Amino acid sequence: MAGAGEFFLHTDWKEIIGILNADKCDVEILTNGLVLDHAHIDYIWTQTSVKMLQFSMDAADGDCYYNIRGSTQFSRIKNILRYTCSHPERKVVRLSFVVMNENLKHIVSFVHFASEMGADGVLYQHMHNRPLITTKRANGFVFDESQHPNKSERKRLILKAVSVAKRLDIFVQLNQMPEIEISDEDYYRCKSKYYRHEDSDFGIQSPCCLPWTMINRTLEGSWRVCCMSEMNSHLGGKNATLQEAWNSKEIQEIRRKLLQGKCPQECMPEFCDVASELKKAH
Ligand code: SF4
Repeated sequence: MAGAGEFFLHTDWKEIIGILNADKCDVEILTNGLVLDHAHIDYIWTQTSVKMLQFSMDAADGDCYYNIRGSTQFSRIKNILRYTCSHPERKVVRLSFVVMNENLKHIVSFVHFASEMGADGVLYQHMHNRPLITTKRANGFVFDESQHPNKSERKRLILKAVSVAKRLDIFVQLNQMPEIEISDEDYYRCKSKYYRHEDSDFGIQSPCCLPWTMINRTLEGSWRVCCMSEMNSHLGGKNATLQEAWNSKEIQEIRRKLLQGKCPQECMPEFCDVASELKKAH
């Protein structure tokens, strides 16, 4: 469960997880953690099939957290993180970090921070200029291009973070940074039995596994392959059910194109580095 919003703000979040539980789905949730308390964490770890909680942090200290996320709740988040990670029924806990100029110098300390909190690992993410947040619907939000970091400096610091993570026995994962190569052993090493190497790609030889692992629901209620794809792609038609979208001819064509190493027309090279690389190659 991810998206352009905080999942735990939905008043029916327990019911939503319950439906997925009943269908025996593994659930992974991305959250900023700000509305969670100890009772919620007890519920999530003991009453649901949630196998991973990812906390969006982007920072390893309170000042940086405030500058990026605009919240003064860093101490509170640390308390929730410690509780989440020390819970006897815990599954995987991952901390995410969108790399930008504001936090570039914190890349390595973020690994120390994650280890100190007791997390299993960290995810470094490329900063996307998403179509959704550049529209007028987002209160005139203007994407700050100046925050795009220098890619070679990003690579240097992330490789350093990987060697620190190895020593601290936590994993590092990357999203949308094809220029950085990390060995499989380092990339997926994780203490938890719930998150294995084979979970990562399901044996699929594709430059992007998202069309096989997730689907994105738009604000209008239709479906697209991911949040960096064409807003109006409407997989399976505008009113398709999840099942119809997941098995639609459009998504099958996207999968076929990716397996051929080509850029599907729904994937937008201006927002997605993988799509951009595929476009360049053809
Ligand atoms: S736009 Fe296409 S290639 Fe890029 S992440 Fe989404 S599905 Fe994958």
